[in-house]
Amino acid sequence: MSKISVGVLGATGMVGQTYVSLLSNHPWFEVKYVAASPRSAGKSYAQAIAGRQHLDGSAAAKNGIGSDTGIAGNVGKLIVEDANDLSKAIDAQKAGCCDFVFSALEMTKDQIKALEEAYAAAGIPVVSNASAHRWTADVAMLIAEVNPHHTDLIPIQRKNHGWDKGFIVVKPNCSIQSYTTPLWALMQKGYEIKRLVVSTMQAVSGAGYPGVPSWDMIDNIVPYIGGEEEKSETEPLKIFGSINQEGVLVNAAEPKISAHCNRVPVSDGHTACVSLEFGTKKPSIEEVKKIWTEFKALPQEEHFPSAPQRPIIVREEADRPQPRKDRDADKAMAVVVGRIRPCTVFDLRFTGLSHNTIRGAAGGGILSAELLKYKGFI
Ligand code: NAP
Repeated sequence: MSKISVGVLGATGMVGQTYVSLLSNHPWFEVKYVAASPRSAGKSYAQAIAGRQHLDGSAAAKNGIGSDTGIAGNVGKLIVEDANDLSKAIDAQKAGCCDFVFSALEMTKDQIKALEEAYAAAGIPVVSNASAHRWTADVAMLIAEVNPHHTDLIPIQRKNHGWDKGFIVVKPNCSIQSYTTPLWALMQKGYEIKRLVVSTMQAVSGAGYPGVPSWDMIDNIVPYIGGEEEKSETEPLKIFGSINQEGVLVNAAEPKISAHCNRVPVSDGHTACVSLEFGTKKPSIEEVKKIWTEFKALPQEEHFPSAPQRPIIVREEADRPQPRKDRDADKAMAVVVGRIRPCTVFDLRFTGLSHNTIRGAAGGGILSAELLKYKGFI
């Protein structure tokens, strides 16, 4: 099978480099176009990331994904284009080198919104990691195991804009990955979740590179990440929402979420401590563990290349999950949960962990693209 050519916008950044690494051995997609800021434009990709290479490839190689250098051979030689110069992407598309793009840009929301729309209007589908379009009504915010049916918004979005080939889908915030899928698995089994309190401990890589100053992070915890608590409290409601007969995505009304988001001195892996309250029907602890252990969804049933065998891994040890020991579980695409126990205030407590730059960003974006290919959108 000939591979689908992809472009990575923001390819030189923390998430962009992770895309390049994860895609180096991908069976369906091949990176043939890389773009970043005007600072990097004109350099070879290898030159552009010299001195700020995020991945040495060891984690990827350990899991049998990506390349062992972090740069796939040919990608290192590609010339980085200016992501703002759409004409370059259109030329690449005409040359068969950019059938769709992953967007991992760090710019103002308005700039990203306008740029992603311009790519979509030019017939280049966009799978975005940026928050700019997460609350655009006709843009699906995808977790492939939770709301694959939200791709039904794509024909509606195309109609709204008069686009024939292009469209935009987004990934949710990395902080919600460690608990949204476990919540969904319980909801799928008929257990309503009324409200929850979540405290996250988020890795430094979540802020990109160079990110948070080392002076703020060493021997310290920063109990504030701008905008993160609002995202954590609202994004799951869009993901759990349903599309009505008029083609409008209606957000779920519950659960009500209260979030505390903290930046901690961990390199990769966001941890979340959750206390939640069920509706009238309450599962036992053993039932919760069984539901999570057995949970599978479309990516597993259809064997998408980046899908973890089990989206949720339950650990029984009293002191797990831990970022260093558990973030790479199943290609770093599984959510690892542990400390599952009754709550003295609500009903259930647990700790969830997911790899923020892989499951929470590039790996999750690739899984969304695999879903889009499976459904015939790319
Ligand atoms: P990053 O390391 O700061 O990388 C930013 C990228 O954007 C670089 O490639 C940079 O190019 C490019 N860029 C910056 N200014 C630009 C401009 N004016 N025009 C064109 N390109 C420009 O950031 P990151 O952590 O990879 O995050 C990328 C996106 O993913 C952000 O929207 C972020 O919110 C989102 N995200 C990040 C994570 C995470 O765990 N890090 C998780 C989920 C979502 P140069 O190298 O040339 O400057």
